[in-house]
Amino acid sequence: MKQAILERPKKIIFREVEKPVISNREVLIKVKRIGICGSDIKAYYGKHPYIKCPIVQGHEFSGVVAAKGRKVKGLKTGDKVTVRPQLVCGRCYLCKRGDYNICQNLKVIGCQAEGAAQEYLKVDMNLVVKLPKKMSFEEGAMVEPVAVAVHALGQASRIKGRQVLVLGAGTIGNLTAQVARALGARAVMITDLSSLRLKIARECGVVHTVNVARASLPEQLEKAFGPNRADLILECVGEGKTINQAIEVARKGSEIVVVGVFDEKPRTDVGLIQDKELKLLGSLMYKAEDYRTAIRLINARKIRLKPLMSRTFRFEDYPKAYRFLEKSGDRVMKVFIKF
Ligand SMILES: [Zn+2]
Ligand SMILES: [Zn+2]
Repeated sequence: MKQAILERPKKIIFREVEKPVISNREVLIKVKRIGICGSDIKAYYGKHPYIKCPIVQGHEFSGVVAAKGRKVKGLKTGDKVTVRPQLVCGRCYLCKRGDYNICQNLKVIGCQAEGAAQEYLKVDMNLVVKLPKKMSFEEGAMVEPVAVAVHALGQASRIKGRQVLVLGAGTIGNLTAQVARALGARAVMITDLSSLRLKIARECGVVHTVNVARASLPEQLEKAFGPNRADLILECVGEGKTINQAIEVARKGSEIVVVGVFDEKPRTDVGLIQDKELKLLGSLMYKAEDYRTAIRLINARKIRLKPLMSRTFRFEDYPKAYRFLEKSGDRVMKVFIKF
């Protein structure tokens, strides 16, 4: 079968490898769609702190069951599936406590272990998640980023009836705003520097959008949400500027969830966290229940994914997809690879 491997930064090569052989507890998946995300792009440029070349990428994907081991229950050949790409140890303190998303020995399929950029991938049966029949392969490949948003919102004390501010309107920010609304937030506001991304957010049903390059966030926030501003702020960028914005604009006694991945260490006014009695929370990946919620929301049409789907490239054009991403910058959201 064919496999695409990121041999070194900016160099994807194709090679012929043996089709994987499955054991009793494994499922062989014929890959259909792969989503390319921000961390894949960072890795492509050799700038991701935890992803090293050579690597077969692909952690957001969907496919069909091609074969299954004898012990595999509840799945049959031809079923539409996605995968929760977390390889956890099951032995560390956090795994034993049920917090396997922050396993001390966590490896992610497509990041530190072989991913979906190949015709077939074998996966442990516990990581395979069945998709509803009517869900498209593109939607199936987006369950992973939707689950990131579900988990991030799950870090807050509650969502229902609250005023939520999301900083950053990239894929994760957009989905976080949409999931907040779907889970019953009273009002949702999203910010970005790109008016195109904000337009896409509006197409997805996010009512309040602020271009922070042109308007004052505190002013817009008070105008839309009133003097109590936001109960919950989610930082979905991973930059000093936005985490500082979150802390500065936060109302006393509110919560901030850090969803963005930081590669630099920002200087932050920690004094404000104390003085405003803020709750600063982190969020990493997701758990199985977040996948279930993500699938339920997508299937019930509670969130719109179509406006986020920028373009699809054939598997043979993997390098082209990266070149497209390179020249498109923040004018592009989700790019897929299709088999
Ligand atoms: Zn991702
Ligand atoms: Zn563990």
